[in-house]
Amino acid sequence: FRHGEASEVVVNTPDGAVVFGEQHPLVVVAGPCSVENEEMIVETAQRVKAAGAKFLRGGAYKPRTSPYAFQGHGESALDLLAKAREVSGLGIITEVMDAAELDKIAEIADVVQVGARNMQNFSLLKKVGAQPKPVLLKRGMSSTIEEWLMAAEYILAAGNPNVILCERGIRTFDRQYTRNTLDLSVVPVLRKLTHLPIMIDPSHGVGWAEFVPAMAMAAIASGTDSLMIEVHPNPKKALSDGPQSLTPERFDQLMQELAVVGKAV
Ligand code: PEP
Ligand code: MN
Repeated sequence: FRHGEASEVVVNTPDGAVVFGEQHPLVVVAGPCSVENEEMIVETAQRVKAAGAKFLRGGAYKPRTSPYAFQGHGESALDLLAKAREVSGLGIITEVMDAAELDKIAEIADVVQVGARNMQNFSLLKKVGAQPKPVLLKRGMSSTIEEWLMAAEYILAAGNPNVILCERGIRTFDRQYTRNTLDLSVVPVLRKLTHLPIMIDPSHGVGWAEFVPAMAMAAIASGTDSLMIEVHPNPKKALSDGPQSLTPERFDQLMQELAVVGKAV
């Protein structure tokens, strides 16, 4: 069980320090699944920033189920994220899939994401633990809470105390109407078990844009410290995860709705 106070993860963004933690305002991370081109990432950054997000998310290296699906633009997408960071002032969160890319990702990212599929890639966990940028650790789609906390422990034990835990839905029997089952019970359970900050990703959790707002509200009611929401300027044309992406307009509306529910945004 947890001993002592909740810890804070302080991230330095171009606009200043943003703090993830129980005693701090909700932090919202938003952006497309993948960085597709300069125009779309810069536009998304500006629009989510105007709506109140503090971080831009966007994949340069994508863990796709099929090797024939779009794999992300890689290094050139990192340059576009750097550009969007400069233009918007937002912090950047992007995924590392391979330790070989960690240095160049950590150079531009303010928070390095380890995705669900790599939650138990122990050599990667040791490496993100041995570098200074904060780490967002997503829960594996079939991982127990114990396994997830032990994965976080690998990062902490390697010397990096700045870990944020992100629930993104677990695999259950029903895949007909939801992509995953968003396990919001982790919020109170993690509060009891760990001092680490908590993030909820309803976009990957449910898989359909129309269900995302309700689950974002529920996540706040459950006490989450932060949210990750996929937003795309034209979801129908998205190269990945379009069906679960909100338009910038819908995201803006959601941010206003969230402000009413709980912790000030
Ligand atoms: C993502 O955040 O785009 C992603 C691939 O998430 P997950 O690892 O949770 O599937
Ligand atoms: Mn995605």
